[in-house]
Amino acid sequence: MTDSLEFTSRDVLRDRQNERLRETVRYSYENVPFYRATLDDADVDPDDVEEVDDLEALPFTTKEDFRAEYPDGLFAVDDVDVRRIHASSGTTGKPKIVAYTEADLDVWNEVMARSMDAAGIEPNDTVQNAYGYGLFTGGLGFHAGAEELGATVIPTSSGNTRRQVELARDLESDALCCTPSYALYVAETAEEMGVDPRDLPLSTVLYGAEPCTEPMREEIEERLDAVGIENYGLSELIGPGVAVECREAQNGMHVQEDHFYPEVVDPETGEPLPEGEEGELVLTSLSKEALPVLRYRTGDLTALTTDECECGRITTRMDSVTGRADDLLIVRGINLYPSQIEAVVLEFDDVAPHYRIDLYREGSMDRLEVTLELVEGFDGDRERLRERIADRLRNALSIDPDGLELVAYGALERTEVGKARRVYDRR
Ligand SMILES: [Zn+2]
Repeated sequence: MTDSLEFTSRDVLRDRQNERLRETVRYSYENVPFYRATLDDADVDPDDVEEVDDLEALPFTTKEDFRAEYPDGLFAVDDVDVRRIHASSGTTGKPKIVAYTEADLDVWNEVMARSMDAAGIEPNDTVQNAYGYGLFTGGLGFHAGAEELGATVIPTSSGNTRRQVELARDLESDALCCTPSYALYVAETAEEMGVDPRDLPLSTVLYGAEPCTEPMREEIEERLDAVGIENYGLSELIGPGVAVECREAQNGMHVQEDHFYPEVVDPETGEPLPEGEEGELVLTSLSKEALPVLRYRTGDLTALTTDECECGRITTRMDSVTGRADDLLIVRGINLYPSQIEAVVLEFDDVAPHYRIDLYREGSMDRLEVTLELVEGFDGDRERLRERIADRLRNALSIDPDGLELVAYGALERTEVGKARRVYDRR
């Protein structure tokens, strides 16, 4: 890829980051009244920000700021220079509106093409894009990236899963882009149609937009006989394309660091944490025109490493996101992420990768119910399996669900469009 610093050196990269950061801070201060006000309030002179280590002095930007500035208060350009608008699906309240100039779209295409390249997708491959097209950034982001790479795109969008299977088979799709839960649903649907999902020509599943544990990845790889590659992104920064695993290592997502500068901070105090420690990911855009973002608190929990990677890329890698700070469930005083439950239950070969967590409040007590699906054709001792899983949850996570139910394969609802919903908190 042209102008990619991925294979240079940390020093070359750092120079580029510092140069772009200086421009971004000055540009944001001059063009976005919100940043002028927050930097003035924090007594930060934009000229004092010379390198990425100076970022610490800058205030954070939050989801609430996006909502307060709805729809376009954070835009740094006039409407006439905006080429595209997307919006993130807020489950509550107003969506976050994001904008792109021509140059922003070029950057997006570039980082998406690089992501696909890292995933092992090649220019002569056929990419089936099952992310939803529309305001959500997944559809058009992957679409443009695949085109930029030179691949053939099949814009199936989400849903209509039987047709996805037919097209993957008949058009010989090499790669499938979708959420991890949807990849499994495609495999199940193929089976229902009498098609062995392992016979589908797919060699790569490029998944993201939902947390995915390692056992879940193994399940995807096994069911579809393909390599599962995780990617990460968020609309507030650009969409998908912020970070991606390399096919060589599949061990941490390389951040496209010449465009997005990552920090990890203590979610409580906001203090920066050293490399390797888990905390909340904070991202600063380094090249955005329409919507520059300074120190955005993503709410996603991860850790960073600059250890050498076998693929040769020199960029920082981030761990798979274990949860969003927002997803944290406090159950009877114990901190718990849904992904922790997922990782424990999927250790059992007899448990299918579909589950549901229900929370209620009875009086002043929390009530936690976990529903798991058995694998197809399970004919073992259900009660004994239930006890083993309960034991394992107690030992690994110190939780003792009030209800732990094992249901037949296929009993839980599948998500065909959008992100899978696994937690129902009614407290
Ligand atoms: Zn790598």
